[in-house]
Amino acid sequence: MIQSLKEALLNCQNPIITTHKSPDGDAIGSSVSWYHFLKKIGKKPIVVLPDQPAVFLLPFLENVEYFVFESDSSKIIEFSETSNLLFCLDYNGSGRVGATMESFVRDFSMQKVMIDHHPNPDSFCDIIISRTQICSTAQLIYDCIAEMDYLDLLDAEIGKGIYLGIMTDTGSFRFPSVDKNTHLILAKLIEIGVKHYEIHEAIYDVNTIDRLQLRGYAIAEKLEIHKDYPLGIISLSKEEQERFHCQKGDTEGLVNVILSIEGISVAVFFKEENEGVKLSFRSKGKYFVNEFASKYFGGGGHKYAAGGISSSNLTVTMNQFHSLVQELFQ
Ligand code: 5GP
Ligand code: MN
Repeated sequence: MIQSLKEALLNCQNPIITTHKSPDGDAIGSSVSWYHFLKKIGKKPIVVLPDQPAVFLLPFLENVEYFVFESDSSKIIEFSETSNLLFCLDYNGSGRVGATMESFVRDFSMQKVMIDHHPNPDSFCDIIISRTQICSTAQLIYDCIAEMDYLDLLDAEIGKGIYLGIMTDTGSFRFPSVDKNTHLILAKLIEIGVKHYEIHEAIYDVNTIDRLQLRGYAIAEKLEIHKDYPLGIISLSKEEQERFHCQKGDTEGLVNVILSIEGISVAVFFKEENEGVKLSFRSKGKYFVNEFASKYFGGGGHKYAAGGISSSNLTVTMNQFHSLVQELFQ
């Protein structure tokens, strides 16, 4: 597969890098590092995001030619007519780019390459580099560069995105998915000039008062601990979010706060949105959440971190969840 990737790269023109909807640190990190790597081998890539990322990820897109499909689809479609290669980074099925962009990815008629670490990849790509044991797509990007024998091209600009993706998908290097290679790669990134402390600051030290108060409110007023199971839940309605001027990314990490409570093994966060409710699941130990998210909430993800969507309102969605909850603990 790595040899096919290298051949595809050498023969490509105007490659397009895509990633999943509501792009997180790994989605942005792997896309920007791949973008800078493609530039370095003489290509003219663009990055296409289904929608805007959280504000704190925007600095990582400086010096990257990127477009947002929601607002720029005609320009992207025009560009795609000159392209013969589309990359799908950090997602395993065309549905993950969202309804507006899905047909663009699915119907792209030239070669498609998936580079991803989510379980159960769909077969919508011609080349599939799927390694589910790796902590982040960003680490897989590093491995691809290394295995294609391009490590001498690695520089701090490429490395910064790799560090961002690894850091955000591993809860800052603490999840079981972190392995020895993760740390060897991080060491290498620091060696080539990646300023690791700047990346931590850019992600974790950019709270607004509103974001902190929303988080405080959610924990103080909205946290429910299940009476029978080691389960913690937080839900936020649209009105509650509006009260704290909630921006994209402001509730990120809240679900992990629930999981950090002693004795809690499963955490669920319900966020009411315009089109329904977004669910975030986290777990640890013997409890897995991805199959549950996929079976009941049209989602998926990893064993310990998954998400889904419900088109019902918040109350109905929460009632539905409560009626199914015992399945999470079998
Ligand atoms: P988060 O809770 O941070 O939004 O997502 C956690 C994990 O679940 C991520 O690995 C993400 O890829 C996956 N995930 C989140 N939402 C969805 C979804 O709607 N569908 C699928 N298949 N996976 C999701
Ligand atoms: Mn990821």
